[in-house]
Amino acid sequence: MLSAEVHAIFTELGLAPPAVGDALRVEDPSSGSILAVLPMADRNAADAAVGRAAAAFTALRAVPGPVRGELVRQMGDKLRVHKDALARLVTAEVGKGIEEARGEVQEMIDICDFATGLSRTIGGRTMLSERPGHRMFEQWLPLGPVLCISAFNFPVAVWAWNAALAIICGDPVIWKPSLDAPLCALATQGLLAPIFANAGHPDALQIVIGSDTDVAAPMVADPRIPLVSATGSCAMGRKVGPVVAARLARSLLELGGNNAIIVDATANLDLATRAIVFGAAGTAGQRCTTTRRLFVAQSVLPELTRRLVAAYRQLGERIGDPRDARNIVGPLINAGAKARFVAAVERARADGGEILAGGNVRPGPGHYVEPTIVRVPDGRAFPLMDEETFAPILYVRGFADDRLGDAIAMNNGVEQGLSSALFSDSVRASERFWSPAGSDCGIANVNLGTSGAEIGGAFGGEKATGGGRESGSDSWKAYMRRQTCTVNGSDALPLAQGIRWD
Ligand code: NAD
Repeated sequence: MLSAEVHAIFTELGLAPPAVGDALRVEDPSSGSILAVLPMADRNAADAAVGRAAAAFTALRAVPGPVRGELVRQMGDKLRVHKDALARLVTAEVGKGIEEARGEVQEMIDICDFATGLSRTIGGRTMLSERPGHRMFEQWLPLGPVLCISAFNFPVAVWAWNAALAIICGDPVIWKPSLDAPLCALATQGLLAPIFANAGHPDALQIVIGSDTDVAAPMVADPRIPLVSATGSCAMGRKVGPVVAARLARSLLELGGNNAIIVDATANLDLATRAIVFGAAGTAGQRCTTTRRLFVAQSVLPELTRRLVAAYRQLGERIGDPRDARNIVGPLINAGAKARFVAAVERARADGGEILAGGNVRPGPGHYVEPTIVRVPDGRAFPLMDEETFAPILYVRGFADDRLGDAIAMNNGVEQGLSSALFSDSVRASERFWSPAGSDCGIANVNLGTSGAEIGGAFGGEKATGGGRESGSDSWKAYMRRQTCTVNGSDALPLAQGIRWD
């Protein structure tokens, strides 16, 4: 079964509609209606995909880097043409507002541009040898097939971060998308795989849609895959990480976040308010970088709280169908996510939290909830705040104006370490936030929020967020193997460290 909307989008993309089956029901989170019922791959199909990827690697690694970059350039061009239709599919399937969905596809285009440039600029260092007539250098070589496991909330962009870099590095990619978002993955694969088929590399990009036990887990354990790049919850990382480590392969883990904004007494409250609202309620609180905790200097706490409550009142009028650009808060992904929101709000109340805004589920079809602010009692433990509830709930707590260190300690006092932000006009405060005793997160922003990263920087977090880095800067290194090479141009054989062994 395939809905008329999905059929129309695939047709607009110039793709045959996906095969229908009876194994996987794909729900529209904004209405609860069924978008498609798809088949799922089994263990044998996953095994065959890994075999094809291993074969594809021997061909792809021999292709010059800039030629691989040209294929990635074509990926970006194709995505430019189809940006709007692909974004509409993202919106239909995961309920992300259409404007944010367009941003997600733009992120795919941006990483293709970035990787294309990188395909001509990746280089190794030359080091000075201590031995006469010797030269040392390092080179970077293709690694092998990459398994990319993606989460529902960035159903296509995070795959693109991986795929664009993997391809220019010479690595085929097998994509295991979230079972909450298989349609936009199938459409992306349908759009981009022909580029590789036309170039003689039909298995450079593959997709396998199947269950975690039958499909994902066997591929995670497969010794033919030297790199498993997995994005999702910390719980998922705790299962995947040890399996990859046990076979001494590489994992690149991008896991949960519990991100905080600190607002000190000098902060520009206009900027802070806008950033907090976008960070906490954007994508209905379903970004890994969503702002979930807010620590505010006591002297500005009443005013900032007043502004946030007023903004959330306006947000309440703009919850609805994410296809309509006037709505800026869409639904949660499914009924389970809505139930977790309800449970967290109930527990917040029971633990002494005061609901300052929102707190309710919207009646009717779809999984809509109100962006919620919880005022947490100062000075006592509030364990709920330490958990990542994947919903738009913002916990607010005060700190003494002259004790920024307390706020930084609270920022760091959770198991995750993804994103963090400080709003301050004080140079000394920002330097402290960035110091070794400052934020322990992979992302530390000043005077902007926790979410909305650009592809040019390395993206990822520390501690239980998994330590992986994707996208910009030197993240490409994860997809290659490094080789240190020394060549002796002399007619002697001196040993390093001056060792004599005649
Ligand atoms: P999830 O952990 O439920 O699933 C993520 C992916 O892992 C899915 O494809 C799923 O099928 C797969 N998976 C789950 N268990 C597995 C197992 N045992 N073996 C192999 N694969 C398995 O996460 P979700 O609900 O789709 O996404 C939300 C979570 O992802 C949040 O915690 C969010 O913070 C996190 N996330 C992190 C980043 C980041 O870059 N750090 C980005 C996006 C999302």
